[in-house]
Amino acid sequence: MPQNNAGHAPETSKRTSPRVYTPRSQSELLQLLRRHPGSRIYAGGTALSGLEDTGRLAIPATVVALYGVDDLRRIARTDRYLEIGANATIRAVSRVGSNVIPKTLYDCLPHIVPPGLRTIATLVGNVCVQGTTTTSVAPLIALGSSIEIRRVGGSRWITVQRFRSGEGAYLQPGEVVTRLRIPLSPWDAQVYRPSEDGRISFAALARRSKGGVDAVRIVIGTRLPEVIHNRELDAELTGRKLPLPDRDIRAAAERMRNTAQAHDPGFSSFDLYRIERLVSWFLRSLTRR
Ligand SMILES: Cc1cc2nc3c(=O)[nH]c(=O)nc-3n(C[C@H](O)[C@H](O)[C@H](O)COP(=O)(O)OP(=O)(O)OC[C@H]3O[C@@H](n4cnc5c(N)ncnc54)[C@H](O)[C@@H]3O)c2cc1C
Repeated sequence: MPQNNAGHAPETSKRTSPRVYTPRSQSELLQLLRRHPGSRIYAGGTALSGLEDTGRLAIPATVVALYGVDDLRRIARTDRYLEIGANATIRAVSRVGSNVIPKTLYDCLPHIVPPGLRTIATLVGNVCVQGTTTTSVAPLIALGSSIEIRRVGGSRWITVQRFRSGEGAYLQPGEVVTRLRIPLSPWDAQVYRPSEDGRISFAALARRSKGGVDAVRIVIGTRLPEVIHNRELDAELTGRKLPLPDRDIRAAAERMRNTAQAHDPGFSSFDLYRIERLVSWFLRSLTRR
């Protein structure tokens, strides 16, 4: 992409290349987004650089690239949270290690993009892709993650679940996602299972208490923008004694199957069978541990 040292492409009267801005700080980034509210944010660019029908790269007319904003590369850990900047690549996040990153997310990281793209694609970029539930969204929602959205003069946090349910509507012109915050709550069971064809990604968490289950979260990503998350079922499983009776496991799995069918009538009976099996496998695994 053409650009000059001042951080943007020279303007010409017959410009066919995109205009690219490369801010060096968050304040410069926010000012640019205010001045160019219609521009596209470019993190790793791996979801943006699709091919048009003509076989040419489809790059938006005005692009604000994040790669020059160093402090957005930051990954920080506190007692309660892991915070990941919008420029942190999937490789950089993986390097934090399985002792820090919650297992359901750690196990998902290798499935987001092929190996060659992990040093380019960002985790925040994955959360921001619209139109489908991208690979990291189900584990991030199960973990109760939030994102920070900034614009000139303000910032706010919203949960990834809410952000995704708004189909991008939560991002107003001039706004950018700057950080992802993942709670580091203790979980006794954490799983992530993608289907071989990538149509389903299953994330589930559970915390045990004395002889029972203290909390359960089951979230399923599909090709649709919103995840499958039956909160009522999570609440009903919470507080139950272990082992769960087999008939209750079967009933819970069937309810998730019905939720999935209502969510996406296009699911094949094999997809629904897989969902049912994953739920019953996870609930049985709680009993076995
Ligand atoms: C070969 C290949 C295979 C892939 N396989 C998968 C897969 O299996 N699963 C999957 O989920 N994805 C997949 N992708 C899509 C994509 O690579 C990933 O979703 C990646 O994580 C996107 O991150 P990025 O940094 O490249 O985002 P970008 O492409 O830079 O941005 C993605 C979208 O989010 C917006 N955006 C990015 N950052 C921000 C921000 N900070 N604030 C606001 N908006 C922002 C952009 O404007 C754009 O609309 C694949 C892509 C390729 C090329």
